Amino acid sequence: MLTQRRLFGTNGIRGVVNKELTPELAVKIGVAIGTFFGKSTLIVGFDARTSSPMLAKAVMAGLNAAGCDILFAEMAPTPALQYAVKTRKVDGAVIITASHNPPEYNGIKVVWKDGIELSREQEIKIENIFFNKNFRLAEWHKIGTVQKLHEIIDEYIEAIKNHIDISQIAEKKYHVVVDAANSVGNLAAPRLLRDLGCKVTTINGNIDGTFPGRTPEPRPEHLRELSLTVKAVGADLGVAYDGDADRAIFVDEKGEIYWGDKTFALVEKFFLKDNPSEKIVTPVSSSTLVKDIADAYGGELVWTKVGSVTVSQTMKKLKAKLGGEENGGIFYGPHQSVRDGAMATALILDIMAKTNKKLSKLLSELPKYFIEKSKVECPEELKTKTLEKLIEQTKGLNTSTIDGVKIWFEDKSSILIRPSGTEPIYRLYAEAKKPEKAQQLINRYTEKLKKIIESLKG
Ligand code: MG
Repeated sequence: MLTQRRLFGTNGIRGVVNKELTPELAVKIGVAIGTFFGKSTLIVGFDARTSSPMLAKAVMAGLNAAGCDILFAEMAPTPALQYAVKTRKVDGAVIITASHNPPEYNGIKVVWKDGIELSREQEIKIENIFFNKNFRLAEWHKIGTVQKLHEIIDEYIEAIKNHIDISQIAEKKYHVVVDAANSVGNLAAPRLLRDLGCKVTTINGNIDGTFPGRTPEPRPEHLRELSLTVKAVGADLGVAYDGDADRAIFVDEKGEIYWGDKTFALVEKFFLKDNPSEKIVTPVSSSTLVKDIADAYGGELVWTKVGSVTVSQTMKKLKAKLGGEENGGIFYGPHQSVRDGAMATALILDIMAKTNKKLSKLLSELPKYFIEKSKVECPEELKTKTLEKLIEQTKGLNTSTIDGVKIWFEDKSSILIRPSGTEPIYRLYAEAKKPEKAQQLINRYTEKLKKIIESLKG
């Protein structure tokens, strides 16, 4: 991913440590970021990866060389660092994390003064500085300083507590199992939950950058241990975070694991009950369930391209207060317009306490959809043409072409057909009120897609 004339992917710069992402490269990227910010103060922090302290020091050397002063927070959850950007009124942050990637990866996320990751336009400015070597090095007496930054996790936990009914939750004495994948989620969520009167059981609770417990991507298939633990200890709730704790996936008291758009729809429902006619922002990869809830409770749904930065930027532009993704990202604007795993956990407990209902019951009350997925191989060079043909062939249907093609049908079924950003394939996701209908849609559009690709190869 670092080979093209592009540094940034969908969520920052990512690569395999000491192969693609070396300390030498990190110093240069640090100088490029520092040149972009100019005279400024930036927070630097990192996740639990083995390579994070090394890369943080390299990036900081580059930032200092460009004249940036640093408040060094060391290890912390990404949302805690983003929150600190706002409260400390600094110019931005640089976070060393590869989020959900395997342990051999690391990455560099750059955050603007509003706490949101940089827009694509801002990233291009840094890429231009980097590739054209327009580095601006400070004179010897203007080299930046490094000061330690303390207590940001305490402030972050206190801030979350302002948005929920603490005593109502504490009365219930919930038992919660936390699986933070041996990473930074362990630094905030267990403490927050104890402050909320919960009994906390942790699995993968020690910090270990080799991620021995599970892969840091909280997909349902990786969370069997969490599900079994919730049942074994008779807990009320289980929650799993990704490697930098901005995404949260929930498990009900029966051990059932839910995709993020389902739990997001629950948060959306109770948010709209209190705030009717607000805008709700979600990528086209989310279930129609999110639209159903918006329609039922008077909200206005805004579909976006897939990607958390797009959701945050759209929320900012539209002054929307709530966003969510199917991968477990919940963006609660009154706290901050970025995804935040601990905030999401607090919101779910708040709903459970307010309604006095178990999570399984709350989720069973939402409209139900069945999902089918498939993929079709497509050479990189044919991806754009394939999409053009597909758009042409689906004209007249109720579609969105904001990201791939999404088609909604009269009977509430839908299909999303999207080129993968990282592999030579197209992915298809169908959902419907009946499982056989979802399968039919997958079959029909897999065929259609294959025909288009074959004809282009012709
Ligand atoms: Mg993440």
